[in-house]
Amino acid sequence: MQPNFIEYDSNYSYDGQLGAIWSPEKTIFRMWSPAANEVRVNIYSEGTDGERIAVLPMVCRHGLWETEAEGDLNGKYYTYTVRIGYVERETIDIYARSAGVNGVRGMIFDPALTCPRGWEKSSPVKLKKYTDAIIYELHVRDLSSDESANFKYRGKFKAFTEKNVKNAAGEPVGLEHIAALGVTHIHLLPVADYFTVDESDTRPQFNWGYDPLNYNIPEGSYSTDPYDGLVRVKEFKELILAAHRKGIGIIMDVVYNHTYLTADSPFNKSFPDYYYRQTHDGHFSNGSGCGNELASEREMGRKYIIDSLCYLAQEYKLDGFRFDLMGLIDIDTLNMAAEKLREINPSIILYGEGWTGGASPLEEGRRAVKYNTWRLPQFAMFSDDFRDTVKGNVFSDQSMGYINGADQQLEWKMRSVLCAGVRHPQIHYGHNWTDSPCQVVNYVEAHDNLTFHDKLRLSMPTASMEDIIQIDKLGAALVFFSQGIPFIQAGQEFLRSKPVAHCGFDHNSYASPDSVNSLKWNKLTEYRQVYEYYKGLIAIRKKFPELRMSSGDEIRKYINFTDLGGGAFIARMKSVILAVNPTWQDREIIATGYIYADGESASDTPLRECDGRTYCKSRSILLVAEE
Ligand code: CA
Repeated sequence: MQPNFIEYDSNYSYDGQLGAIWSPEKTIFRMWSPAANEVRVNIYSEGTDGERIAVLPMVCRHGLWETEAEGDLNGKYYTYTVRIGYVERETIDIYARSAGVNGVRGMIFDPALTCPRGWEKSSPVKLKKYTDAIIYELHVRDLSSDESANFKYRGKFKAFTEKNVKNAAGEPVGLEHIAALGVTHIHLLPVADYFTVDESDTRPQFNWGYDPLNYNIPEGSYSTDPYDGLVRVKEFKELILAAHRKGIGIIMDVVYNHTYLTADSPFNKSFPDYYYRQTHDGHFSNGSGCGNELASEREMGRKYIIDSLCYLAQEYKLDGFRFDLMGLIDIDTLNMAAEKLREINPSIILYGEGWTGGASPLEEGRRAVKYNTWRLPQFAMFSDDFRDTVKGNVFSDQSMGYINGADQQLEWKMRSVLCAGVRHPQIHYGHNWTDSPCQVVNYVEAHDNLTFHDKLRLSMPTASMEDIIQIDKLGAALVFFSQGIPFIQAGQEFLRSKPVAHCGFDHNSYASPDSVNSLKWNKLTEYRQVYEYYKGLIAIRKKFPELRMSSGDEIRKYINFTDLGGGAFIARMKSVILAVNPTWQDREIIATGYIYADGESASDTPLRECDGRTYCKSRSILLVAEE
């Protein structure tokens, strides 16, 4: 039987603040569990081991358990013991804001103690429209774990705050490099407390972090002291402050679709089954492919997600959220969250994966998936259409895209994704899941699947390194010059690769060692020209608003195409002329103005003037503007 929680939702839901509410005079504890027969707060002096210094019984009113502890509990740790029938289980508070090692006990603390010097001056970056954002996806550990750069705090939040870090050739790396590249936002792979890395073990361990344990607590393995809950909070703020000082926003990747544990998760210990969806026969459903899915549509599951997002946005002054398997979250929850988040930060950027990881009991009409994008006006979605059109399908190594062999077959699809997939009078390809470029994230590489370089290598097995570089640059130009929100993975700008001994390249490096995942900073020197090209493309995108339109109407009015034959074409966008030529022959172009980008170089100062006949070289773009 499928449990029925509607009665709990209508009779017992609570809309006030939950968790440990600290003040110097007292701490109020509030937890919600209409299923519990008894709940007690356990207070500890330490985040692990150590003595239990107090046990406080809680009083229940309409499913809300509450108690107060007199005095200043700053620095103490706590858990709840929840009794249901004869079964007692101890759990961390799902609302806990920090924890001791491995996230077992929550921490009670004065948030003022976690603010680094200068924090009051830190503020989120301003963003007028989503298409002004240029997103750089990065794993905290990857930035600093490789020995090719002299980081002191390898694998830690603090590595982002280090100055004058260089590679062997003396080139700046780390945050300084990212700022010089010109991206506007860093999207961090999950930094909330996750399960599979043992924080008490200092040997190198790696996980992407899509195995959530505590949503409101920074991951302990990224802090210099996972035992002291204040340190992880403070050091994550230091990272954000360092980025804000360089004018870069920080986006958190949030995994509200499932939890790593199911039956023994803090959610399930607090209120069995309530926070998870069930199949018709009463089992945990598995739309995430990870064993469960959070029931965002139930009152208190919804409240939890919204409370968590608002707390993180406010406390950490975040610039955005990326939602993992967003299709498993119901549309109403996301729209309500967006409204509240915009009050906290009007510039906040919200986007996610518009799909699920398996069959879900959530009705299709309620899912935040691509075909429902029009009902989620504040959210953008990853365009797997763009990704697979440009470089070929991600599930087949050999599959080719527009730039690596399938130019003629995919020309119309390429024109479509260049226009963010919106309807366009000149495009005879009907797959329009949005009418706004602000809702489309364009990319050819992310943490999932092969890197762009590795995919090109496998799909073009006879290509020389020179060829690979040329095609890589063509793909990058399409990412930065298409309508929508450009997104790259860290290191893509110096041909990031994940080779594995004897078996090619790593498709799914979620738990692979640092040797596979880390950014190899010496490659920045080796592929300097690729980096310079990406940097130039970004500068050009920032210079010309034509490349950052904000509506389907604008795209239909101002973009028009001219055929160049064989899959090549010209897209005119107001005063910008973009020729795209994936073929093996050069194409003649008639244009007047200044050339800012060709297959070799890209810069926001003109490379040269052109007055009449010019060429778009084979497997290249050419960008000409009137001024
Ligand atoms: Ca952890």
